[in-house]
Amino acid sequence: MPLRRQRPPRTYLPSPGALRRERRALLQIRNDSLRDLGGLILEMFRQNRFNDELVRERCSELVELDRRLVELDEVLRAATHRAPLRRCECGSEIPPFSRFCPGCGKDLGVAEDGGEPEPEPEPAPET
Ligand SMILES: [Zn+2]
Repeated sequence: MPLRRQRPPRTYLPSPGALRRERRALLQIRNDSLRDLGGLILEMFRQNRFNDELVRERCSELVELDRRLVELDEVLRAATHRAPLRRCECGSEIPPFSRFCPGCGKDLGVAEDGGEPEPEPEPAPET
């Protein structure tokens, strides 16, 4: 695990794997939020005390979440329709046809047109 991992400015698309993980996380949050909202409304009904403001707030959070999911889908489509970027050992993404790493300047040898990306380390397995 490299300790001094520089994060270069994000000029290139994140990897499809990272996007898919983010998408899964967002979907999970969306499902949880929807369930919470349902529970909230039911509780309001039970107590016959509707709090419009709260419901509106939760709904607009969900709408915002949906908007981000749509965005993410678009980026994911764009990211998967092109060759995945290779990564330098410093962690920087290497643009296609580059000979030098944009992060650390390492000479990467002959420029390749993409090629097989290194498999991304998967995070701890989800349930
Ligand atoms: Zn590098």
